[in-house]
Amino acid sequence: MSSIVETRNLRMYYTVRQGLFKTVPVKAVDGVSMNIKAAETLALVGESGCGKTSLGRTTLRLLEPVSGELIFKGKDITHDSQQSLKWLRRDAQIIFQDPYSSINPYMNIHQIMEEPLIIHKIEDADKRTEMIYRALEEVRLYPVDEVVRKYPHMLSGGQRQRVTFARALLLDPTYIVADEPVSMIDASSRVELLQILSNLQKLHNLSILYITHDISTAKYVSNRLAVMYVGKMVERGDVLKVIGKPLHPYTQGLIASVPDPDPSNRLSYREVIPGEPPNAINPPAGCRFHTRCPHVMPICSEKEPKLIEIEQGQDAACFLYHKEFVEEEQPGDKR
Ligand code: SF4
Repeated sequence: MSSIVETRNLRMYYTVRQGLFKTVPVKAVDGVSMNIKAAETLALVGESGCGKTSLGRTTLRLLEPVSGELIFKGKDITHDSQQSLKWLRRDAQIIFQDPYSSINPYMNIHQIMEEPLIIHKIEDADKRTEMIYRALEEVRLYPVDEVVRKYPHMLSGGQRQRVTFARALLLDPTYIVADEPVSMIDASSRVELLQILSNLQKLHNLSILYITHDISTAKYVSNRLAVMYVGKMVERGDVLKVIGKPLHPYTQGLIASVPDPDPSNRLSYREVIPGEPPNAINPPAGCRFHTRCPHVMPICSEKEPKLIEIEQGQDAACFLYHKEFVEEEQPGDKR
């Protein structure tokens, strides 16, 4: 399967002010290589501030990389001017977390949906209406005749987010970044929204980067799962393999902390990862997780582990899987 999006050693830093005159770089994305294949959903998981949103936006060139390469459909677009990337604004879309702020409260749904079509010069009004109706039907907002006349405040949060799904699809994109699309939606509507996203992915052969802090939702929508920690990718692989048998201690901690009402489910025990993530302004040397890892070894604060294939289709960046560094302890001994 060919890649739609590929990053090679991508870095995105932004600056924050420290004191009156000094600015320092925050290493939001710090050397990430990954790919998203045609018609697949990659879930990108990690705690708040780990760099997943920055990585998602950098793949759209909404944030500028400081180094590395960004390849879209085989073309290196790392240094292309924003002016020359108009095609990308049509072929790649983003769904934001907050449906309340991402649509204009003073426009009705027809006007909200029509805006991107006018910007992208779909001149025929009948054609625009036909496209709007089809997109709203695909996200199951019925009856469409009534929905298009409503204003955002007349819809529930879940319905508003469905409008943003439909609007993202209007221009028939190849790639969508869905940034925490259900985290601000009532729990009762989340599963239905995730089903709609999954159906849309299949219907339109979309490549989706599904960003979430909630690893438990990833298995509903994604084919593969990638885990980020303080700007680095620490594990990735087939979603069922990673959730079924996580290799990296950070992924193990994330999964163990998922609440599950089923007592027979092995995810039901809750274990919180100790401590706080380190500051991305000055991350620790070596493995960035070593300040919190229950399996830490002397090498972990000295060298940075590479993200390598440990099992077929499952990569991890951890010295526990490098025989030369492990003496008596084996992965999982302490769990
Ligand atoms: Fe823990 Fe060391 Fe593996 Fe990092 S490299 S996750 S500190 S065992």
